[in-house]
Amino acid sequence: MTTQNGLSRERAAPRQWLWRPSTVWHLVGPMIALIAIGVGAVWLYLPQAMQAAAIDAAYRSNIDVAEQIKITRGYYTQHVVAKATAAGTLNPSAIHAGDPGAIPLPATFVQDISNLLAQKATSLALVSPYPWPHRANRTMDAFQQRAWETFQQEPDRIISATEVQNGQRVLRVAISDRMTNEACVACHNADAYSPRHDWAIGDVRAVMEVRRVIEPYLAAADGRSRRIILAVACTALLVILLMTAIAMAVARSMRSKQDVDRHVLFLAHHDAMTGALNRSRFVSLLTDAIAHSKKAGRCADVALFYVDIDRFKEVNDRLGHAAGDQLITAVVTRLRDRLRDDDMIGRVGGDEFVIARIRDVDAADTVALAEAIVADMAKPFLLARHTLTVSASVGVRIGTGEVEDLMRAADVALYHAKNLGRSRAVLFSEDMQDELEARRHLEKTIRDTSRDCRFELHFQPLLSAGDRRLHGFEALLRLPDGRGGYIPPAQFIRVAEEIGMIGTIGAWALHHACMVAARWPDHLIIAVNLSPLQFASGQGGDASIVDIVAEALARSGLAPHRLELEVTESVLLESTEVVIGELNGLKALGTTLVLDDFGTGYSSLSYLWKLPFDRLKIDQSFVAALREESRPALQVVRTIMALSHALSMQVTAEGVETEEQARLLTELGCGQLQGYLFGRPSPEADLPGLVLADFEAGQAVARPRKAARPGLAVLA
Ligand code: C2E
Ligand code: MG
Ligand code: MG
Repeated sequence: MTTQNGLSRERAAPRQWLWRPSTVWHLVGPMIALIAIGVGAVWLYLPQAMQAAAIDAAYRSNIDVAEQIKITRGYYTQHVVAKATAAGTLNPSAIHAGDPGAIPLPATFVQDISNLLAQKATSLALVSPYPWPHRANRTMDAFQQRAWETFQQEPDRIISATEVQNGQRVLRVAISDRMTNEACVACHNADAYSPRHDWAIGDVRAVMEVRRVIEPYLAAADGRSRRIILAVACTALLVILLMTAIAMAVARSMRSKQDVDRHVLFLAHHDAMTGALNRSRFVSLLTDAIAHSKKAGRCADVALFYVDIDRFKEVNDRLGHAAGDQLITAVVTRLRDRLRDDDMIGRVGGDEFVIARIRDVDAADTVALAEAIVADMAKPFLLARHTLTVSASVGVRIGTGEVEDLMRAADVALYHAKNLGRSRAVLFSEDMQDELEARRHLEKTIRDTSRDCRFELHFQPLLSAGDRRLHGFEALLRLPDGRGGYIPPAQFIRVAEEIGMIGTIGAWALHHACMVAARWPDHLIIAVNLSPLQFASGQGGDASIVDIVAEALARSGLAPHRLELEVTESVLLESTEVVIGELNGLKALGTTLVLDDFGTGYSSLSYLWKLPFDRLKIDQSFVAALREESRPALQVVRTIMALSHALSMQVTAEGVETEEQARLLTELGCGQLQGYLFGRPSPEADLPGLVLADFEAGQAVARPRKAARPGLAVLA
């Protein structure tokens, strides 16, 4: 994210929430903390709770034992003591041990059982402060005393306590022992040894206590706690691991999805090679920035620089496209080094860049920056295998308003810089206003004409050099100027390319030309010009040029071999591999490929043999030079002929205006001729006459006794 000049700005702009490793911990961290707190709480409180539960269980068991003893005593009283007393056979006594005629009194019965349980883990005591005979040694301890006193007020209370006795924890539970029924009361009141004789039902006569060693209960509870804590901790650990793994997997997949999204977004907004903004993104970001400045009450002036590398095509042609790509990348790097972080840079053409300075725009600084850019570009570039010296021209516009207007003005200034001899910066000035208006008007005319389908095609004859018979026509676009004339293609095609309209217009020309040609005799071909921008990465829209041509052929029913497609070498300025693929695709459709304007600039001989061209079209500048009988021109044409024959390509000469040129070119081996000598571009309505004239010329040749006619020349 340290890249600058629009790139960082662009990356920061849609700043979306991103999945990072820290994101995982933000989600999983709190959950782990919660789980850890839960495990800690279990670890702290579970042993206590388990011990409390164990003591509670022991407490209830003690009460049960006491109740059971009471029930047993009741049963003994009712079914043993009462029956023996009634029968007079046995005598209930507190001292029954050595007396064969005595059985234990009910209370003695309980005392005896208590004595038997004395050494057991669960023992029993029946104590009372009353001076019962034979129990004088049974004094109450503090716990029993407290229980007795409590029962005096609340006989239904249960008193309990844990104590350590002989190194062991013991649970003591006491309940009141009361007079339960009439028989019980009567017996006690009648007994001479009873400490009282006024007993009533419900009177508390003793404390019944069950005492239990609870050490084993507590040990079992501790063991259970440990096992539960272990299970909980293991489960928690597993859950944490599982959650972390799931969260990381989700984060990874979200991250990679976001990466793809961001990459797609980046490619949609940037030039993939240099990382500079593409045209539409540049325009929209700059529009936003201007609007923002206006809203914030700041000066909304921006400085817009249109930078064009001078003669970039020569670099591509001489050193190949790899070097061209390296140069473009190096140019962008050098521009970025010169700019501020908040400046924006966009690539709007093969070798054209726009730069916007948004804040603190000052005329003197702007001019200084433009000149610095020109100076920077003139310094040598060290590429992988070459050291290159190029130059750049810069057009500058300071102002505000529509970004497209600013760019247009900077472009006008750039053309002034080019016309003044390149390698310089020109600031847009008021005297360029008319030009700007004209340019704006031209753009509007192009848009309106395309929208209203008012473009026209004119057709210029192409002749076979040998017999001067009609070979076909080249379709040439015409933009009506609204006053009965036409704006020449040389003026509007470049503008249509710059405003992104050439795809639409070119597709229309192709469709229309095919429709018209489909009505001609079968031996006539139609040649259609294609802009480089209709090829890969151009303005053809979603459909490739191959699709568009295939559709035009299919719709018109024109045989593919009757369609010739003319492209100039500049088609190879960008994405060569893709362009070559598309050229091969067009060839595979069965069309003929023509390399137009051959010989202008540096013809890339290194590429020529790799490309699927069937025909070269010698540029009219060479043909014009022939008229002046220039020996070098003659040599060049001769060389082109030799080259094309070596590559099995046919040759067409365009711009033939004199019979002398036609004769020379024919002698040199040129297969086709095109030029004002044979016919100017004419509207569709004139074509039947031209075709008829050619037919009649053919007839004349077939009937030699009649006066021969020199092909179409007489009709032109
Ligand atoms: P081009 O394809 O090289 O077309 C030949 C140009 O030379 C035409 O100019 C034609 O009128 C002109 N010409 C033909 N014979 C003579 C002659 O004897 N003397 C002179 N001085 N000129 C002659 P035009 O129609 O103005 O077209 C200019 C260029 O505009 C074309 O050059 C072509 O590059 C482009 N163009 C025309 N139509 C289209 C189109 O539909 N699509 C695209 N992309 N470009 C087109
Ligand atoms: Mg052409
Ligand atoms: Mg040409």
